[in-house]
Amino acid sequence: MTVKSEEEIELLRENAVIVSKTLAEVAKYIKPGVSTLALDKIAEDFIRSEGAVPGFKGYRGFPGTLCVSTNEEVVHGIPGNRVLRNGDIVSIDCGCQKDGFFGDSAYTFPVGEVSVEVLNLLKRTKESLYRAIEFAVAGRRVGDISAAVQEYVEGFGYSVVRELVGHGIGNQLHEKPDVPNYGKRGAGVKMPVGLTICIEPMINMGTKTVVQDGDGWTIRTADKMPSAHFELTVAVRKEKAEILSTFRYIEEVLGNSSI
Ligand code: MG
Ligand code: MG
Repeated sequence: MTVKSEEEIELLRENAVIVSKTLAEVAKYIKPGVSTLALDKIAEDFIRSEGAVPGFKGYRGFPGTLCVSTNEEVVHGIPGNRVLRNGDIVSIDCGCQKDGFFGDSAYTFPVGEVSVEVLNLLKRTKESLYRAIEFAVAGRRVGDISAAVQEYVEGFGYSVVRELVGHGIGNQLHEKPDVPNYGKRGAGVKMPVGLTICIEPMINMGTKTVVQDGDGWTIRTADKMPSAHFELTVAVRKEKAEILSTFRYIEEVLGNSSI
């Protein structure tokens, strides 16, 4: 587990802003009829225009700039010819790298008109992330973050994916510590000032059980019910976490249709 200097946190912030703006650029094109590969191209072009490079492309052989995961897909969907349809939800997870540091952020978008039940899953998953961020404070333990997510979402009858977790971030995309979305208050490592972590609840409407596709990447719910995913990067500080990435640009694009 590495603690970052203020200079390193600035570089992480720069990357966090790039992924935040990339997701907003992609948001402009999320409509019925668009292919997931078209979204991937928009993201890659935008990242490169910012002087960064895609952070996921080539990571353990992943072929895309984005992970694009629809409906019952939880994470790690590979961009391709699949076309978004009215009523879908789509999780877009974006990584970039610039000046030796990484950015990593995710947002789940409704496509056209989505049922109230599914919109609630999205809203509550996002809310669980903000509740968790309240605990990214020096002296707190990772389990405080985990429990904040789990307690909130299980109150609605949702379930927390166990196999995939948040993580530290720095000059590696995935660093220590793991940041699970389930756990007990007071458990896990104590967080120091200057720790930088990605908190990313992955919340299923039905069972927590997930399965992996034969493509070696795509993770989907075993019961085919929808799953939501939101991710922000934060720096642990003394009184209050500092949020380095933001959904503000996305929500400016979505306007009244923001969830
Ligand atoms: Mg991510
Ligand atoms: Mg991540």
